[in-house]
Amino acid sequence: MNVADSQRLASELEKMGYRAAQTPEDADVLVVNTCVVRQGAEDKGVGRLVSLKPLKEKHPDKVIGLMGCMVGVRDPLPLRKRFPFVDVFMAPSMPGPMVSFLRERTVEDELLEIEADERAIRDAIQDEDALILPSHERGTLITAHVPIVYGCSHACSFCIIPFRRGVERSRSVGEIVAEVRSLVRQGVKEITLLGQIVDRYGKDIPDGPDLADLLHIIHEVGVGEGLERIRFLTSHPNYMTDKLLDTVAELPHVMPHIEVPVQAGDDEVLARMKRGYTQQQYRDLIARIRARIPNVAINTDIIVGFPGETEQQFMETYNLLHELKLDKAHLAKYSPRPQTVSDRTMEDDVPEEEKERRRKMLDEMQAEIIAEINGRFLGQTVPVLVEESHGGKWRGRTPQNKLVFFEDDSQDRHGQVVDVEIVWTGPWSMQGRLPGGAMPVLEQIEHAHEH
Ligand code: SAM
Repeated sequence: MNVADSQRLASELEKMGYRAAQTPEDADVLVVNTCVVRQGAEDKGVGRLVSLKPLKEKHPDKVIGLMGCMVGVRDPLPLRKRFPFVDVFMAPSMPGPMVSFLRERTVEDELLEIEADERAIRDAIQDEDALILPSHERGTLITAHVPIVYGCSHACSFCIIPFRRGVERSRSVGEIVAEVRSLVRQGVKEITLLGQIVDRYGKDIPDGPDLADLLHIIHEVGVGEGLERIRFLTSHPNYMTDKLLDTVAELPHVMPHIEVPVQAGDDEVLARMKRGYTQQQYRDLIARIRARIPNVAINTDIIVGFPGETEQQFMETYNLLHELKLDKAHLAKYSPRPQTVSDRTMEDDVPEEEKERRRKMLDEMQAEIIAEINGRFLGQTVPVLVEESHGGKWRGRTPQNKLVFFEDDSQDRHGQVVDVEIVWTGPWSMQGRLPGGAMPVLEQIEHAHEH
């Protein structure tokens, strides 16, 4: 979501004549876009922001912006006091304050020039409502994110997001479709629809379309324009209807890839997390997804060390993960967050070393599971959407979102869907060759997996 928000801010700044700079020293405007979902993320954001202070003191004309969940949808006054060197504060997904700030500093003639530049880009991509990608991404960016639901109104007891991103708001179909179309016209081949609970899309619009309806519309419009792949994340188990699953199975350009966090495997912990389902209901959901979507990849999120989580309760999570054999598990150690129910009413009583031990146990088991799942692709030929070249190889993803590297110097494969025969698999990536092509020199690229 932050990648998408940063892109939209960059797009607004480009419309005003700004271009991406390589270093903070070279930049006139610097923005730190922040995440606060865990304390570690917040600390990182604060560290980066504070590191810009000497630069601002030396060059007071540089504009510093703070964006995202650290700002949230609340009065920025306390932040203004804490970081007086910051000029502009922006709530998540809201680039407006920076645009107004910079416009006020821009003289009339420059504004006219800026508008003329914007007009030229819109004419070039023949789209009046276009989201114009930043110039360094236009024509080269293959996969893009499109937020379809802002905010979140769920009340998971551990989660700060509803307090910082505000209540759930679905975007209109018209706005989403226009954005998808403009991205595809600028070279994007894969769209990932985003929401904190993406499968709640449309629930805040009376008689509105649901996510399945939206997928049908985007499939129809996008594929006609050259869109290859559609994904969506993140889903909540309780809203994964058969209609949605059947739509994923039915539409050829919607990928067999589901992100559906379980968070914990123990019923009592799940109840205290206020997740709204039991272990058995999650198990049934996984079976239902697998029955309805052939060759589907299912990813999950897990929090270890939630307040009061006993060894036995943790083992429920461990055993569930062992049993379900999912394609990926994003593991997090519980981090108490201000305002949340768990922070206000429960003691963070699992020691840090114990949280780390539990995280590591899951991580090691999950690596074995993924290695086994990925091993099944050995010898298969799979369609890979090529995103970029990386260390002399093409780097892309399978429909299940698995990373594949392959060599081919015969032509520019950027943005193409290429059939690749898998010749090596590991937990984080696979290596392939063009069918019948030369065997690659195999080396492990374990660290190339995304975070
Ligand atoms: N909204 C989605 C959901 O929970 O179903 C997922 C998106 S959430 C931003 C990303 C992940 O961060 C969550 O799935 C959860 O595992 C993790 N997370 C959220 N709050 C956390 C906390 N207080 N401590 C540790 N991890 C947390």
